[in-house]
Amino acid sequence: MLYNQPSPHETRVLTRRFGLPNSASIDTYLASDGYKAFLKAMQMAPDEIVGEVKTSALRGRGGAGFPTGMKWSFVPRNSPKPKYIVVNADESEPATCKDRVLMEEDPHGLIEGTMIAARAIGSEKGYIYIRGEYRYLIDHMDRAIDEAYARGWLGKNIQGTGMNFDLSTHTGAGAYECGEESALLESLEGKRGNPRLKPPFPATHGVYQCPTVVNNVETFYAVPHIINMGGQAFADLGTPKNGGTRMFCLSGHINNPGVFELKMGANLLWMIDAVGGGLRSGRKLKAVIPGGSSCPILRADECDLAMDYDTVAKAGSMLGSGGVVIMDDTTDMVAVGLRIMSFYAHESCGWCIPCREGTTWLKKMLWRMNNGEGRKQDIDLINELSKNMLGRTFCALGDAAAMPTISLVEKFRDEFEAKVRPVMVPVSGPDQLVAIS
Ligand code: SF4
Repeated sequence: MLYNQPSPHETRVLTRRFGLPNSASIDTYLASDGYKAFLKAMQMAPDEIVGEVKTSALRGRGGAGFPTGMKWSFVPRNSPKPKYIVVNADESEPATCKDRVLMEEDPHGLIEGTMIAARAIGSEKGYIYIRGEYRYLIDHMDRAIDEAYARGWLGKNIQGTGMNFDLSTHTGAGAYECGEESALLESLEGKRGNPRLKPPFPATHGVYQCPTVVNNVETFYAVPHIINMGGQAFADLGTPKNGGTRMFCLSGHINNPGVFELKMGANLLWMIDAVGGGLRSGRKLKAVIPGGSSCPILRADECDLAMDYDTVAKAGSMLGSGGVVIMDDTTDMVAVGLRIMSFYAHESCGWCIPCREGTTWLKKMLWRMNNGEGRKQDIDLINELSKNMLGRTFCALGDAAAMPTISLVEKFRDEFEAKVRPVMVPVSGPDQLVAIS
């Protein structure tokens, strides 16, 4: 299990049902105030719900960090088209495994979050798009959805409130690209998971070109708690414009890896030492990827910072998906670059040239360098090629591949230089060679 024994450092809001006997069942959910927030939301006007979510300063937990209440407010309420709720449960960013534990431990929390969002935008249909690798979770969520239907918490005239809402799971096929919301929508419609040109955005042209709210799993989980505790109380848990708690996935060279719910804005060094149990014995911190593999890397001397969207952005990286990878001084940064690029080259959907060709070239150069075959000019070439991809690809996957690579070359250039293959020239005959670089 990825979710550890509760840490005394955690602030358990979203995870408060974790560890309860049979926590995934509807009986446990109802016995612990489950679906209470939905009934409260039914007493509120849709605009009030959106207002409360805006007050909470909840930002999308998938990676981009867009304000959730604002996203919901973009949905045209008086559109004659049906409106949809889509849960992005594609969780495929390397080092991220938080949505998985939320769905495992508390599937009804996700269902209730979608119901409140549906009430807010006037939707009667929702989909939970789950990555294909999470096969067991699709069955798990289907069981919870069946329970909710059987007990009158989904379907027609829910609990006599007059609201109708249907929810179903949809299986992805394991493509990283389908975590991008417009590619996800294409996949959901049964097409190849290529991203769409934006604008228009899903708020007006989502599933079947109808108004749609697409949010990450963790984002929907926060919603019932916001309605129950009030938007301001949720906002007060975090830092300005970064409300609430955050599921952080700590991995790498620490003693106590796992998924932890911490206040937004928790200090990164504290997180490593107190929550993660510190580095392996005798080792020093070298670098951290703060929010999944697509984020620029932070050197050890840049890690004394609050983990919220704005502070991490000011430090030149991103809070991203909450996947925090901690690396000690044994880490080979060229190998890190190769590992990351191998992933992105494999996952590039091939739709646009800078990403399709760029990731492959970068992977080849990084492989060459990592295997002692690199040329001196490759270092600048890797950097320049990555910079040429930035902002020039159809979707953010190109940036996701380029950003960590640029940071690795610029912050750990000495390690790249150390791996350059020396150029050998003859001195007095072909059998006597000397390295000149
Ligand atoms: Fe596909 Fe990459 Fe282009 Fe995105 S950036 S559309 S993943 S080729």
